[in-house]
Amino acid sequence: MTKASLINSKLPRVGTTIFTIMSRLANEHNAINLSQGFPDYGCSKELVALIHKNMLAGNNQYAPMPGLLSLREAISKKMDCAYGKKHDAETEITITAGATQAIFTAISTIVNPGDEVIIFEPAYDCYAPAIELYGGKVVPITLQFPNYTIDWKEVAGLVNTKTRAIIINNPNNPTSGVFDKNDLLQLENIVRNTNIVIISDEVYEHLIFDGAQHQSVAAFKGLAERSFIVFSFGKTYHATGWKIGYCLAPKELMNEFRKIHQFNVFCVNNPIQQALAEYLNKTEDYLTLPNFFQEKRDFFVDKLNGSRFTIYPSKGTYFQLLGYEKISRENDVAFAERLIKEFKVASIPLSVFYDKKEDNKVLRFCFAKKNETLLSAAEILKSI
Ligand code: PMP
Ligand code: GLN
Repeated sequence: MTKASLINSKLPRVGTTIFTIMSRLANEHNAINLSQGFPDYGCSKELVALIHKNMLAGNNQYAPMPGLLSLREAISKKMDCAYGKKHDAETEITITAGATQAIFTAISTIVNPGDEVIIFEPAYDCYAPAIELYGGKVVPITLQFPNYTIDWKEVAGLVNTKTRAIIINNPNNPTSGVFDKNDLLQLENIVRNTNIVIISDEVYEHLIFDGAQHQSVAAFKGLAERSFIVFSFGKTYHATGWKIGYCLAPKELMNEFRKIHQFNVFCVNNPIQQALAEYLNKTEDYLTLPNFFQEKRDFFVDKLNGSRFTIYPSKGTYFQLLGYEKISRENDVAFAERLIKEFKVASIPLSVFYDKKEDNKVLRFCFAKKNETLLSAAEILKSI
């Protein structure tokens, strides 16, 4: 027996995530870390005090399996206000350990061996491995560079009787693109009269700029009736380390989702749920997010003025794409590594989000940072 013979890898092609690699490299080289997406400033002190209050009050034991009812009710109210869709708090909402767990559980709920799942590339990294783990086949569709638009005719052409699900991410990480109403109407048309389930990753729902409105699948009847919709409090409350989010789906889908959720996590952090149930009613906190992040985006882009990087439009999320084709012909992973080691700025190369590692010489930079951090990074980037 060798140690290796104990393992028959279910994910032979998978390594460590790019976020882990780049953050580690940034720390090792003392670089400004604009790679992994997380704020470098604090979250609401009031919210932290509420969590603390709940811990002191003794709310430290298991929460109910699907999540605290008061929090689910607050989410239901929020969804109704924002998208005009009523989700039943009892049967259609589950609190999860972040969006990652919600997405993983949704995929495990519906994907059987041989099923096809359409994803759009560049794709956030947690979709494909989960599909493969359950024996599904990933069907990637490439967004058209440089605008990263979707050709819905191509999507319609790839749908067949084996298509089990389509995963969308809007606003989109890593492209920073957002869907307009027409995109969702096209998707609604494609799935009409099929059994296709939609997994809609909407963790950046409030990070949308220039006056655009977030188009949630919740607002489209033909999509909401077949969708798992996923959100993350980590994004909304500048607290990615809390790993708490939620998933919405029609009762029948949610019932199956919970069968898996209960044996995977059972329930998530109780005092944070208690605090969020109260805090979520403060709508001004998340309604001011578009302005807050738009100012950061504009600050960063303004400070990059005159640099040799190509600045792509960022319509949502807290990411800015920069092209370096005028600076170097290196591949994007090598260039991103050199940027850390030689110039002390960390970013994420986009090729890692493609199955075929398509390299358009584009890097992703996170602008959820203090202005002083953004200024220091921009000054370095401008000097290259
Ligand atoms: N989906 C997307 C598109 C993300 O960018 C992220 C993380 N930033 C997640 C899901 C995961 O969210 P969480 O940290 O709540 O698991
Ligand atoms: N979602 C974050 C990003 O895109 C990373 C989360 C993680 O490290 N898994 O940067």
